[in-house]
Amino acid sequence: MKIDIDKYIAQQPALANIKEQKPTFWPNPDRVPENEIWDHEEFGLKDIEAAEADLERYAPLIAKIFPETASTDGIIESKLEKLDKMQELIEKNHEFHGELFMKMDSDLPVAGSIKARGGIYEVLKHAEDIALETGLLKSKEDDYTKLATKEAKELFSQYKVQVGSTGNLGISIGITAAALGFEAIVHMSYDAKEWKKELLRKKGAEVKEYDTNFNIALKKGRAESDADPKSYFVDDVKSTTLFLGYATSAIRVKKQFENRGITIDKDHPIFVYSPAGVGGSSGGTAFGMKAVFGEAAHVFLIQPTHCPSIPLGMVTGMNNDVSVQDIGIDGKTEADGLACPSPSVFSGDYMKPMLDGMFTVDDADLFNYLRDLHSSEGFTIEPSSCASFEGPIKLFEDPFAKEYMKENNLDKIQDNIIHLTWATGGSMVPEEINEQNLKTFL
Ligand SMILES: *Cc1c(COP(=O)(O)O)cnc(C)c1O
Repeated sequence: MKIDIDKYIAQQPALANIKEQKPTFWPNPDRVPENEIWDHEEFGLKDIEAAEADLERYAPLIAKIFPETASTDGIIESKLEKLDKMQELIEKNHEFHGELFMKMDSDLPVAGSIKARGGIYEVLKHAEDIALETGLLKSKEDDYTKLATKEAKELFSQYKVQVGSTGNLGISIGITAAALGFEAIVHMSYDAKEWKKELLRKKGAEVKEYDTNFNIALKKGRAESDADPKSYFVDDVKSTTLFLGYATSAIRVKKQFENRGITIDKDHPIFVYSPAGVGGSSGGTAFGMKAVFGEAAHVFLIQPTHCPSIPLGMVTGMNNDVSVQDIGIDGKTEADGLACPSPSVFSGDYMKPMLDGMFTVDDADLFNYLRDLHSSEGFTIEPSSCASFEGPIKLFEDPFAKEYMKENNLDKIQDNIIHLTWATGGSMVPEEINEQNLKTFL
């Protein structure tokens, strides 16, 4: 299918940059005023709080199947870091205002990426459903550590859990499903990194490799799972459970800022920058931040210049039915976590009224930001994660971003901005791959 993007460019000039694969800011033209957002949404804060309550119920079980979470009583959470040294480095070469923070989901236990939030949640919810149906659990007040017994494993071993992934979602689902005793099958696209496949096999999941992109791997995985009544498919582009699991992070982030004594309000806004693939975890994060912080939150997604699927899906209204290849862009990027040529249904429908804008980033800069972060703060994260720095670095320089700031009177309070970059993955990257990444110049 060929899409004529030119017809949208007259109204949205930033799309010309997207078409030409030049880094840009793209303001979301469909954003509505804060007080109208929730009229457009099927889900809201109540649903996020319900997901949070589920996770609290699962916590004793999580602590039991993943002993690395025992010290936090089965709550899977990451640190909030202030990046003073990275900020200094940015200020040397760029205009910058406000304060720079990073949410370290790269260190989340079990999966080493943001996918630990939604992925573990959805597998546990599915296990809970089966346990309630079969009587293993008498009610939601029952002892959930029963799901970690030999009897439970025998029960779950009759079922399959499958997922399509470029890597990290597969790790999260595969590890959790296998730990509970499910037969775990992960359908992986050609951009999936070898170390991620090896890790999954070691954890007891089956990896099916495809020599196609994520769209096709996802479709094939879904079809295979749907044909089997005892198989459950975790669907990255359609799952509300995943989405709400990701959104719970906002409740936790709010507490973390409160604990630091940092005020966030309309005049001291938080700008959130999430690297995006299909818009599942990134969209869920943005959704949660808007629901929890209201008009104090400004949410931005970042995609590679070679895979700007979310603006394309939103502009055309075609969401998951359109691919960057339809406008002549190859969808190939070193950022495996962002290599999703078609966006999820959520990123279009749920993000439309609330997304403030998108940045696109050159692959080469992902590695530059990786080096900057490493030399200044000593952290290494996945190249995909580094996309988030494009936000604060370009916000005060990109002409479309400057216009956005002015139009929304944000330029007047720019010194009060809390910039929250989201480190989406990293702690499981093998040391030799980190070293290779630090030496990669594109
Ligand atoms: C999943 C992931 C993202 C965001 O992707 P979505 O498809 O929007 O959920 C970004 N970075 C990393 C490392 C990821 O694993």
